[in-house]
Amino acid sequence: MISHLLNFFYPRKCGSCGIYDPNFLCQSCLNEMRPYHPTTSLFPMNQPIQSVTSLFKYTGRASQVIARLKYSKITSLAHPLSSLLYLTAEHEGLLETDIIIPVPIHRYRRIERGYNQAELLCSAFPLKYKDIVRPSHLKKKIHTPPQASVKKSNRNPKMMNPYISTTQVNNKNILIIDDVYTTGQTVSWCAEALKKAGAKEIHVLTLARS
Ligand SMILES: [Zn+2]
Repeated sequence: MISHLLNFFYPRKCGSCGIYDPNFLCQSCLNEMRPYHPTTSLFPMNQPIQSVTSLFKYTGRASQVIARLKYSKITSLAHPLSSLLYLTAEHEGLLETDIIIPVPIHRYRRIERGYNQAELLCSAFPLKYKDIVRPSHLKKKIHTPPQASVKKSNRNPKMMNPYISTTQVNNKNILIIDDVYTTGQTVSWCAEALKKAGAKEIHVLTLARS
């Protein structure tokens, strides 16, 4: 009854195109999001990251959906996107992990945005996996511009790692979650910090990849 009333006064809309949709992301928008192939890329064992799995190509509707979640505060999109991430994680065997860590944002950005989209992307995971989500294990201590917006020629490979691990993660397998994989710099920094803190295998799961 309450949900009927809520629906009457606040109809559920697709966070991308605005048509009525009970799932907050309609099928036609979803159909426009192009899958990323191959879903998973493996890296050699001597690299800090063992694999990167991404659902969509970071273009067209998928990039619009992510921008709406990230910059336009359309947080209703988090639930359907998180469900899709969960299904992929399960399918790719990524949930046989010890810890799940959403990529942190700097506290200034958190104050400005009000939330961390990577954390929201874990919101639809079943409880037993939510229980191993540890946002506080990594911290972003330096405020940096988004790597995708920095011109390639201006990127400084020697820049100090802005991420630190706040705790030891000795011999733990870790799944890092983020919205987008572009240059790979962000997750490399996170992996480097986690390796220093003793992490064993590190896998990455993102919604989109360019
Ligand atoms: Zn739509």
